[in-house]
Amino acid sequence: MNLGRMSKPETNPGAAEPIRDCPFCRIAAGAAPAQIVFQDEEIVAFRDIHPQAPTHILLIPRRHIDSLGVANSEDAVVLGRLMLAAAQIARQERPADGFRVVINTGAGAGQSVFHLHLHLLGGRRMAWPPG
Ligand code: 5GP
Ligand code: ZN
Repeated sequence: MNLGRMSKPETNPGAAEPIRDCPFCRIAAGAAPAQIVFQDEEIVAFRDIHPQAPTHILLIPRRHIDSLGVANSEDAVVLGRLMLAAAQIARQERPADGFRVVINTGAGAGQSVFHLHLHLLGGRRMAWPPG
């Protein structure tokens, strides 16, 4: 698959600038509070406000991307870093019996905040298939 040929739709022109009414852009900019567990120049990780497991951490790119559904080759590096950061945080948090990384993509799949984020979940038994 040639990811380079995938283009972002007109409605998401890359959004290099923070989106003012996006709650996760606000957290990334330090304009809204969050329990931050990790951050660097590209990524912020913070505890979910309504945790669904003893460990429930959200990882976001600082740069606004609506969802995984509109990610393209420009996002390849940050997507890889998000995955590796999730693994690193999981090693620090040490949830018993493994962990799960989830990216809800689209309202029908449960996405409620349209700034791409990974859920890192652990500390309890996980059912499969997910609901
Ligand atoms: P989604 O449903 O889009 O996959 O996940 C959004 C997640 O963001 C939910 O688990 C929700 O609890 C969490 N969330 C929504 N708003 C905030 C917020 O302002 N702060 C934090 N820490 N989590 C939030
Ligand atoms: Zn945003």
